[in-house]
Amino acid sequence: MRTQYQKPKGVEPKGSHELAVGDDMLVKPTLGGVAKDALQGNAPALNPATVEEEYSSHESEKGKHSVTNANVSTEMAPLNIGKGLYIYGIDEGAKEAGIAIVEAITGEVVFKGVIHLRDDVKRLMRYRREHRRERRRHLRYRANRFNNRRRKEGWIPPSIKVKKDNILRVIRELAKRYPPSKFVYEEASFNIRKLVEPNVNGKEYQKNLWNALIYRAGNKCEVCGKVDRKLQMHHIVPLSKGGSNSVTNILIVCEQCHKGIHEGRIKIEKKDLQVRYPAVAQAGKTYLKNELSKLAPVEVVYGYQTKEWREKMGLEKTHWDDAIAIIAKGKKVIDKTQPSFCFAKRHRPYREAQRRPDIKEIGGLRRGDVVNYYRRDGTVLNGYIYGFNANGTVRINNWNGKRIIKFSKISPKRCERVLRDPVVVVVS
Ligand SMILES: [Zn+2]
Ligand SMILES: [Zn+2]
Repeated sequence: MRTQYQKPKGVEPKGSHELAVGDDMLVKPTLGGVAKDALQGNAPALNPATVEEEYSSHESEKGKHSVTNANVSTEMAPLNIGKGLYIYGIDEGAKEAGIAIVEAITGEVVFKGVIHLRDDVKRLMRYRREHRRERRRHLRYRANRFNNRRRKEGWIPPSIKVKKDNILRVIRELAKRYPPSKFVYEEASFNIRKLVEPNVNGKEYQKNLWNALIYRAGNKCEVCGKVDRKLQMHHIVPLSKGGSNSVTNILIVCEQCHKGIHEGRIKIEKKDLQVRYPAVAQAGKTYLKNELSKLAPVEVVYGYQTKEWREKMGLEKTHWDDAIAIIAKGKKVIDKTQPSFCFAKRHRPYREAQRRPDIKEIGGLRRGDVVNYYRRDGTVLNGYIYGFNANGTVRINNWNGKRIIKFSKISPKRCERVLRDPVVVVVS
C-alpha cells in the first residue's frame, strides 16, 4: 500500500495535469504509465482515480506544508523588498535628520519626526587616540596590533558613517511596522551634475545654480566675507557681453560689495570658482543610498526642489515637513500626527559589552533604561539613565546627551521606567 503514497512515476505535477485536462494526447499516456508501474512492483493494480485522489491529497498536504514554510521564512526575512505600502522621506541635516512616512494610497502621514544624529564620535576617537599614545609612550617598543596605515575600500570617516548608521537603524526599526515601497532622499541642496549644462531648463537651472553658489560661498559674501547679508549674484563677464551663467562666471556678493564692484572701487581677485563637493560627504551619502536600496528603491531629490514643494504645500521649514514635502511633491497630504524624536541607541562593541559583566541595578533601574521623571511641579522629563555614582546618585540625560537631572535617591513614584534595551527609542 505504501506505493500509493509515493509519487507515481510519469504523473505530471497536479498543476500541469489540470492544465492538460481535455487534451487527450497528454492525459492518456500519463494514467497508463501509472498502472503499468504499479503492476511491475507487485502491488495491486490501482484504479487511476484512486491514484489521482491520493496523489492530489498528498500534493495538497505538501502544498500546505510549503506554504507554512513560506510563511515562516517571510516572518524571518526582514522585509518584502519594495513591496510595502509606505513612502519614506528623508531630509538630512547636520545634527538631525527629518523623517516622514506617508501611506502611499491614501496620502496619509503615519509618522513624522527627527532622528538625532550623534556628533561626539570625532571627540571620542581623539580621546581614544590620546589614551593609546599615552600607553605606548611607556614602552620601548610595542608591536603593531593591526595595520592602520591602509584604509579599506569603501572607508568612510567614522564621524560621517555613524550619522548614516543612526538613520539606518531607526529606519530599519520603523520598516518593521511600516514596510517601505520607496525612499525619497534629499541628497544635497543642489545637483552638481546639472551645473555643467548652463541654461538648460531655465528656472530649474537658476534655482540649482543659486543653491550651488551659496554652498560654495558658505552663505557669506565672497568679497568681504561678512555673514547675515542679503546676497546677490555678480557676473564677472556680464551676460550682455557674452558671459555665461556658469558657476565660474559668478560671484556671490553682498549689496555693498556689489555696488563697489560696479563703481570700480573694488577689484575682484582671481579665485577658484569651481563648485566642489567633499568626496567623503559624497561617500557617506552613497553608503546610505546603497543600504536603503536593500529595502526599497531610492529616489533622489535636491534642496531647491524641496523648497518649492514645501512653499506650495504651505509647510513650515522643519526637517519633518521637508521630509513630507519631498514625498508629496506639492500634492496634498493628510497629517494628524505629532512629531516624534528618534534616537538610535549606541551599539556597544562586544569587547566593551564584556567589560562590565555585573549589571548595576538600583531601585529596579539600570544604566541605559529609558525613563520618565515626574517632577514636583507636575512636569515630566524624558531621558535615559546615564549612570550611577559611587555614592548612589543617579544621573538622567536627555537625547542630546545633556544632563537633565541628578538626584540622590530613586523614588519609584518619581522615576518610571519606560523601556529597557531599546534599539531605537521613539519619543512622541
Ligand atoms: Zn561684501
Ligand atoms: Zn554685478
